[in-house]
Amino acid sequence: MKFEENIRKVVPYVAGEQPNKPNMIKLNTNECPYPPAPGVEALAKELDVDSLRLYPDQNTTPLVHALAEYYHVKPEQVFVGVGSDDVLSMAFMTFFNSDKPILFPDVTYSFYDVWADLYRIPYKTCPLDENWHIDPADYRQENGGIIFPNPNAPTGLFEDLSVVEEIIKSNPDVIVIVDEAYIDFGGESALPLLEKYENLLVVQTFSKSRAMAGLRIGFCIGSEKLIRYLNDVKFSFNSYTMNLPAQVLGVEAVKDDAYFKGVTGRIIATRERVKKEMTALGFTFPDSRTNFLFVSHRTVPAEDIFRALRERDIYVRHWNKPRIENCLRITIGTDEQMDQMLAFLKEYLKDRME
Ligand SMILES: *Cc1c(COP(=O)(O)O)cnc(C)c1O
Repeated sequence: MKFEENIRKVVPYVAGEQPNKPNMIKLNTNECPYPPAPGVEALAKELDVDSLRLYPDQNTTPLVHALAEYYHVKPEQVFVGVGSDDVLSMAFMTFFNSDKPILFPDVTYSFYDVWADLYRIPYKTCPLDENWHIDPADYRQENGGIIFPNPNAPTGLFEDLSVVEEIIKSNPDVIVIVDEAYIDFGGESALPLLEKYENLLVVQTFSKSRAMAGLRIGFCIGSEKLIRYLNDVKFSFNSYTMNLPAQVLGVEAVKDDAYFKGVTGRIIATRERVKKEMTALGFTFPDSRTNFLFVSHRTVPAEDIFRALRERDIYVRHWNKPRIENCLRITIGTDEQMDQMLAFLKEYLKDRME
């Protein structure tokens, strides 16, 4: 058909599956195994349905102010979106408009190349080293912008802030986006670097550490100038992106810092215990500072383990992609969920390793 010529054709991002089985153990999309803060539940029950007649606050003012206060920045430095995927997508559109390629790691969040293709942004990937680390020297070549997660996904590895700073410092002419989706699980945020660098944008989400993937809340913090440009694009695209319940419940989640620290602390403790048990079972993995482990088994192929787990309704993530086809990404669930997974793996591997 002739009309086909004028259609924007894209290969969409493929998210982890969302099965819904009564006794499944879902460790495939890095959700939080614990509920959101108690105040969120209480407020959700009291939600004033009549308020839904009206459009929500298009500036998401209370949430922007709550985040600004929490992270000790000005409200003018905060931008909120419908999950960090929305924030990242807006940031790609706003900041990556050069003819030169943007740079990101070869093994990383698999949405980056999708947005680049969607917006027709040229890109080039920089290979992680053999230990899955980012080499900052790779980011000294000509480019139209840089993005990487820290800690990186799906490797789970955190790069020292000196590495992050080296990349930002050697690229003053482009915007550097640090995707901190997993920063609350033991990493160190690049936010303090905002005092020195106007070309830095730090993106975070409520989906993992704040247990609210279903509400879709993400945000970024940067210089006032960058946030102004982002808002101009957002208001040229869709003004009322964030629904009222998400705005109201998001503010409530930020209030309860003790609960937040408790949940992330529990997940970190479970992760460290599971690392020891996985090592004992013959798995190797980079030293994760996230809520997941990126594992390979010394002898049994990842795809076999993936299928065996899936048959038991234990869902983890596997990609048929170069460099990572023998790896599984396993979200850290509750202690009980991890014990069930470990018990199954122990039995399963016993028969295969003799
Ligand atoms: C999960 C994730 C996101 C997006 O999460 P949202 O639910 O859209 O906030 C972004 N970047 C990375 C690296 C992620 O793992």
